[in-house]
Amino acid sequence: MIIAMQSGATDEQINHICDRIRGFGYMPHVIRGEERTVVAAVGHGDKKEHIESLKSAEGVEDAFPILQPFKLVSKEVRKQKSAIKIGKVTIGDGGFVVMAGPCSVEGRDQLMTTAESVAKSGAHLLRGGAYKPRTSPYDFQGMAEDGLKLLAEARDKTGLAVITEVLDTGDVELVAEYADVLQVGTRNMQNFALLKKLGEINKPVMLKRGLSATIKEFLLSAEYIVTHGNPNVILCERGIRTFETATRNTLDLAAVPLLNELTHLPVVVDPSHATGKRSLVRPLSKASVAVGADGLMAEVHPKPEEAWSDGPQSLRLEEFAQLMRDLEPYVNLRKSESN
Ligand code: PEP
Ligand code: MN
Repeated sequence: MIIAMQSGATDEQINHICDRIRGFGYMPHVIRGEERTVVAAVGHGDKKEHIESLKSAEGVEDAFPILQPFKLVSKEVRKQKSAIKIGKVTIGDGGFVVMAGPCSVEGRDQLMTTAESVAKSGAHLLRGGAYKPRTSPYDFQGMAEDGLKLLAEARDKTGLAVITEVLDTGDVELVAEYADVLQVGTRNMQNFALLKKLGEINKPVMLKRGLSATIKEFLLSAEYIVTHGNPNVILCERGIRTFETATRNTLDLAAVPLLNELTHLPVVVDPSHATGKRSLVRPLSKASVAVGADGLMAEVHPKPEEAWSDGPQSLRLEEFAQLMRDLEPYVNLRKSESN
């Protein structure tokens, strides 16, 4: 349930409500908005008598059930988009944050060349997989900690924040030492042990939509991370499995405005994994701005023909530079419309 506090509610009144909520067997989460504070009480179902009794407590404006199955990530709890700070960059503040880099970290030259080039082109974050979730066990599995070290070196060189995937609960602490944002890949969207563990860290997490996950399942997975203590979750639409085989996956662009209706979490689009085709990245990146995404993730490689993974969908350095130039008027138009 949601307990909306009056605009001048004191900390004492808020704490008292939290104690009462715990007494009823729910977990309180205090969410401080610009105008007022709301306390979200999550647990197993909302009891009418609890809602009624909290309604009349001091400092309370109103109390009502949360109707959606996902609670803390729901728009019902927080109307305003969550702005998440990643180093010098903020995602979810109305701007458009671009994450770019190779599918896999392959070595120093490859990573530094890419990092310096995408930084110059205007990317905000460097991406690169050090732990790779490969469909075949015989494919390159990533450079592991050596890859993380190279990502940190690239951050020092370029000033770009770093996003990289974590596959295993046992690696969360290590990856969090190096990365600015931890990525959960599509194959792990419902790895609940991993999601719970990521709820305990104080770095932002980007959760990619599962290959065959519904929007409800996607948001419930985000809820796992938030309810375990980490509110800084970014969602990523990266294409879903459909009957269509002409593209690697089918980009569900409708998911973006729909998620914006249902959740306050920022939403990013990954047209590289969605399509598997370099030529489709540019039009779908523009479309992502138009449908209200908070950012983009694109794979970029100095020599895609020689990439150890996902070459056919990776942009060349100059193609990424051109993409950034192409996106500028779209981003500016959106900014001027929202003013
Ligand atoms: C990735 O971004 O490196 C990746 C493996 O993507 P996905 O989990 O969306 O397939
Ligand atoms: Mn990839």
